[in-house]
Amino acid sequence: MILGNRSKKSADRRQVDVLVIGGGVTGAGVGFGLAKKGVRVCVIDDTPVVDRASRSNMGLIWVQSKALGIPEYMRWGFNSSRHFPGLIAELEETSGIHIPYNPTGGLIPCVGEEEYGRRAEYIEGLRKEAGDFGYNGTMISRSELEKLLPKISFGDKVCGAAWCEEDGFLEPLKMMFAMRKAMVNLGGTFLPECRAHTIRREGSGYLVTTSRGEIACDKLVLAGGLSNRQLGAWFDLKVPVTPDRAQDLLTERVTDNVLPIPILGLTQTPGGTIMVGYKHEYVGTDTGFTPEAVSSEGRWAVSVWPDLAKLRVIRCWSCLRVMPVDGLPIYDTVPGHDNVFVFNCHSAVTLSGIHVATLPDYVLGNGLPEDGKIFSLSRFTKTGAK
Ligand SMILES: Cc1cc2nc3c(=O)[nH]c(=O)nc-3n(C[C@H](O)[C@H](O)[C@H](O)COP(=O)(O)OP(=O)(O)OC[C@H]3O[C@@H](n4cnc5c(N)ncnc54)[C@H](O)[C@@H]3O)c2cc1C
Repeated sequence: MILGNRSKKSADRRQVDVLVIGGGVTGAGVGFGLAKKGVRVCVIDDTPVVDRASRSNMGLIWVQSKALGIPEYMRWGFNSSRHFPGLIAELEETSGIHIPYNPTGGLIPCVGEEEYGRRAEYIEGLRKEAGDFGYNGTMISRSELEKLLPKISFGDKVCGAAWCEEDGFLEPLKMMFAMRKAMVNLGGTFLPECRAHTIRREGSGYLVTTSRGEIACDKLVLAGGLSNRQLGAWFDLKVPVTPDRAQDLLTERVTDNVLPIPILGLTQTPGGTIMVGYKHEYVGTDTGFTPEAVSSEGRWAVSVWPDLAKLRVIRCWSCLRVMPVDGLPIYDTVPGHDNVFVFNCHSAVTLSGIHVATLPDYVLGNGLPEDGKIFSLSRFTKTGAK
C-alpha cells in the first residue's frame, strides 16, 4: 500500500524535495516535521524486521540519566520531554491514531546502600552541571518509593530510588505509525517495503534507486538506523554507529495496572505484560539469544520485585540498539554534500519531541539550536571516523 501522493511520479520515477531513507521513529518524525512545513517529502522504509530498534524498544521517555559530563545532552533530553504533550496532541489530531502516552515520571530503584550512594553521587553531579537550567530529578527513600508504587512489594535490599517526574512512557509503535500517517495526511508520501539500493548525484540533487523505482530529490536524509553504515558508504562516509544487543523477556499479563510508573529496565506494557531488559552487549550484528543473559536480568528483576518470580515468562528475544560509538546522537551533513543529512541516535523515542521540533528546520538550512551543535560528526575526527 502506498500512502500519500504529493511526490510527482512518471512511470517508475518520482521527484520530491526531500527523501528520507528510513521510516523508523527518527525518519518518520523528520518526515512529519517536514510535511508540517509544506515540504514535498517522501519517507521510504524497507521491509519491517522485528529486531529493528523502532519495533522492539520499551517506549520510555527517559531523561533523568542523560548524561553526566555532557550538559548539552541533558538539556536536549529534558527539552525533548517537554515537547511531548504538544507533539502527542498534534499527532493524534492529524493522524487520527490514539497514542497511549503517560507522563508519569520514572524510577531507578537501588538494590543496596552502595548502589544508592553511587546513584546519589551521579544525580548530584547532574544537578551541579545543570546550573541555572535546573535538574528536575532527585533521590527518594524506600518509603517514598513505596508510596509511588503501592502495589509492589519491593525486595529487602531495595533501599530507595532515583526519581524524575519528567520521565514517562508511551506506546512507541503507535507513535511511529501516527508520525507516518500524519505526514501523509499533510501531503507527504510514505512508501513501505521500499529499500534504497543505490544513491548518486544528479544535477544539484540526488537520485536514489529503490525496490519501487527511482526517486530524485533535492535533499536526502539518511535515517536508516544501523543501515546508515551501508548508506553512508555511498558517500565514502564511515558512520560511527554500532549494534548494541539487548536481550529482553516478557511475562504473562497482569490484569491490574501494578506498575503505573516505569522502572528503568522493568516496565508494564499497555497490554499488561511485564517487560524486563537492560543489558548492553557489543557482539556485532549477532542477534543470538543467551539464556545466561536473560536469567541474570530475571534475577535482578526479582531482587527488585520478588513477586515477579510467580509470573510465567512467555517470550524472550534479542534485538539491536542503534548506538553511536560515544552514545550521543549524530546530526550532521555528509562531508562534501551539504544537502545530505545523517541522523543516528540511541533513545530516539525519548528524543522524538526535540527531533520533530528541530531536525526539519536543520534539513531546511536553518541550523540546529545551540545545544544540538555538539552532535556533529566532527567530534569523531580525531578517531578517524570521518
Ligand atoms: C530493546 C530496546 C529498548 C529500547 N528502549 C528505548 C526506550 O525505552 N526509549 C527510547 O527512547 N529508546 C529506546 N530504544 C532505542 C530506540 O528504539 C532507537 O533509538 C530508535 O528506535 C532508533 O530509531 P531509528 O529510526 O533511528 O532506527 P531504526 O529503528 O533502526 O529504523 C531505521 C529504519 O530504516 C529502514 N531502513 C534501513 N535501511 C534502509 C534502506 N536501505 N532503504 C529503506 N529503508 C531502510 C529500516 O527498515 C528501519 O525501519 C530501545 C532500543 C532497544 C533495542
